Amino acid sequence: MLVNMKEMLNKAKNGHYGVSFFNAVNMEMARSIIETAEELKAPVIVGTAEVLLPAMNLDDVAKYLIPMAKEASVPIAVHYDHGLTFEKCMEALRLGFTSIMYDCSTLGYEDNLEKVAEMVRICHGMNVTVEGELGHVGDNAGSGKLENPSDYYTDPDMAVDFVNRTEIDALAVAVGNAHGDYAFPPKLDFDRIDIISQRTGIPLVLHGGSGLSDTDFETAVKLGISKINIFTDIDKAGKRGIEKGLQAGAKTMMELMPYEIEEMKAVVKEKMRLFGSIGKA
Ligand SMILES: [Zn+2]
Repeated sequence: MLVNMKEMLNKAKNGHYGVSFFNAVNMEMARSIIETAEELKAPVIVGTAEVLLPAMNLDDVAKYLIPMAKEASVPIAVHYDHGLTFEKCMEALRLGFTSIMYDCSTLGYEDNLEKVAEMVRICHGMNVTVEGELGHVGDNAGSGKLENPSDYYTDPDMAVDFVNRTEIDALAVAVGNAHGDYAFPPKLDFDRIDIISQRTGIPLVLHGGSGLSDTDFETAVKLGISKINIFTDIDKAGKRGIEKGLQAGAKTMMELMPYEIEEMKAVVKEKMRLFGSIGKA
């Protein structure tokens, strides 16, 4: 069933488990995520991000994800991640996404707050949830890499003000996490997660979930992380499946797809087990 993130994440926060968000940039990914969620009776969030749109345009993603979510036997939120422009977020809304992340985290504090608050006013009128980001989560490599990531960590006082004034449903925090492959195991600032969670009272989101250790996840979830974003791990699993298929003698896409899906489903299952969302649908 197609839902927004509100009830799903509040239940996760109160129940001390995490819900996974996976980008699904093609049908194989979407099937791997949704079929596993159904098999394990786990709620899940699927979607895409603005930077991933070269893989497939938003209209096409909506055309397969939204009907698949509607028909699923478990609650599924369809989320537009890292919406960078107002126009693109409005397009996602029109296409039927039930959750929007409006990422204005590279702007100054008041600008971020104002823009996100406006997005909340629009989205809540349509029963759509909104995720904001305060502080800034950088990338592990490339142009999005931050010189001193700790300068961009989420400030707890600002987080309280930001949440109260925007009325967002979930807050993405910068606490030592980064997008993409970690060169070294990251050191998460757990005290910061704890304080922000207690003081804001809303579900927190951990971006850059691929590559964190099992104990990192367990601790982060216990302290108030309710949504964990995973892409790199499932993306690489798809490639691994193709390699396995080729080694096994597969000669066509038709023959490769089952290998691809099997590897991706294993990653989805493992994350759901780790975050404790199995059986919570
Ligand atoms: Zn992210």
